Amino acid sequence: VRQQSVWSKENIVRSPIANADIPNVSFSEYIFSRCDEFKDNTAVIDFESGRNYSYTVMKGAAIKVASALTRLGYKKGDVIAVYSANVPEYSIIMLAASSIGVIVTPANPSYTPGELAIQLEHSKAKAAFTILPLLPNLKEAINSKQSLASSVKEIFILGEAEGCRPVSELLKDDGTMFPDVSIDPKNDILILPYSSGTTGLPKGVMLTHHNCIANLYQVKLAVDIKQGVDRFLGILPFYHIYGMIPVQFGAIDNGCPLITLPKFDPPVFLRALQEQKISILHAVPPILLFMAKHPSVSKECVQNLKYIVSGAAPLGVGLSKEFTERHELPIYQGYGLTETSPVIAIDNPPAKLGSNGPVVCNSTAKVKDVETGRSLGPGEEGEICIKGPQVMKGYLNNQQATNDMIDSDGWLHTGDIGYFCEEGNLVIEDRLKELIKYKGFQVPPAELEAILLTHPSVQDAAVIGVQDAGTGELPKAFIVRKPNTDVQEDGILKFVEEKVAQHKRLRGGVEFIDVIPKSPSGKILRRQLRE
Ligand code: AMP
Repeated sequence: VRQQSVWSKENIVRSPIANADIPNVSFSEYIFSRCDEFKDNTAVIDFESGRNYSYTVMKGAAIKVASALTRLGYKKGDVIAVYSANVPEYSIIMLAASSIGVIVTPANPSYTPGELAIQLEHSKAKAAFTILPLLPNLKEAINSKQSLASSVKEIFILGEAEGCRPVSELLKDDGTMFPDVSIDPKNDILILPYSSGTTGLPKGVMLTHHNCIANLYQVKLAVDIKQGVDRFLGILPFYHIYGMIPVQFGAIDNGCPLITLPKFDPPVFLRALQEQKISILHAVPPILLFMAKHPSVSKECVQNLKYIVSGAAPLGVGLSKEFTERHELPIYQGYGLTETSPVIAIDNPPAKLGSNGPVVCNSTAKVKDVETGRSLGPGEEGEICIKGPQVMKGYLNNQQATNDMIDSDGWLHTGDIGYFCEEGNLVIEDRLKELIKYKGFQVPPAELEAILLTHPSVQDAAVIGVQDAGTGELPKAFIVRKPNTDVQEDGILKFVEEKVAQHKRLRGGVEFIDVIPKSPSGKILRRQLRE
């Protein structure tokens, strides 16, 4: 049901889609009810091995794992890290944990041990689930700091390895030790992904059961998904909120088989599209770039696709055009943040090139004049603010950062600059916040700056993103050398490379300068560096 005017007199933008009645239940209760509906349909399939679970089997497996976790002493409020590529068991672990009130903190499988250690320590994860290829990194992360030894007590592994508890053992549980936990969907945390938000280092984003169920509703009421018929590809990493909610659980919520791929390997990706008759593809701009340009992308590969959703980073108008000219497939651009579970707006049917469509249901938005704080009208550019059931509870143990992002009236300030047109479609133009996005992955400058400052020859450092057509932005460092030192670009690049995940490497290069421009309060003047 589409409503008429989306603009109020006070310049508040409503969703054109009528409000949905979002069930106020725990995440597992909701998803289990979907499992009961879709029964023997396939829920998740690992593309390469064909290992798969039907809805009934997935639910049964989740109950067994939940029972086994309870026997092992895990209880409501505990945190378990999931450090894994996309595998079907990801969903089982998530459902099991959520059914007993255990919080999952998903970690980027490309993290180095050092990066992982920070998340494990900050989230106070008591256990971690991983896959064999990532086990050495996980072990190194756990052993890297003395203080951490007290936090992660147990490793659950897909497969078998010494000193780890195999998931297969959990699956042998008889499922009877199922505690009667009471979940408050609007307060209890379901997942704890990490995001740097508008400034600083990565923070634990507390997303409640209700936040995530709400966003599943908000997305399915905005796009056309044929329940039990459409087929989803799980290529975007499940650790990231886009892969986690709209893709992984978007598929499961709608009875659509989810075909998992552990990484983006072009020939395998194309084979999966074709052989698995994928009809809904969630992607990021670099995947669309590949599909628009690469000769190996045949008609057969894309023939079953109904549409593609693009999110996590801006989709260039040029790329969008090039793609649709070659493939005649609609692209629905979506916009969101980890802090909003994630979707805020999605463009269906595509309104105009570059648009992110209207805000999803049950949500309102406004555009804040960055100078005056006033709410702006159609076509006027400012900071996008959002209110709705998908807005996070806050950052873990960081009330200040929470207050900086969500004001006392409940508006979340996204740190993105854009406008809504007369019809209520959102266009994102720029980023007010310091966050850099490389291929849709977060690169928090503060994290790289902190690493650079530990280099013995570095006096001061600042990192900004430089525009790059193929990947979005490339992190570039400005360095002030310590007196009488002569470190060169190579040395800096290597120093950083050893400490960070692939996507955070200083691909934008290094420039040596005399002084980092800062405000009187010590804030790096990034705009000045950009100019
Ligand atoms: P993340 O929390 O990793 O999902 O990052 C959220 C940020 O990604 C947003 O605040 C935006 O800066 C950027 N982003 C996500 N989707 C879009 C989009 N469609 N257009 C432009 N920027 C986007």
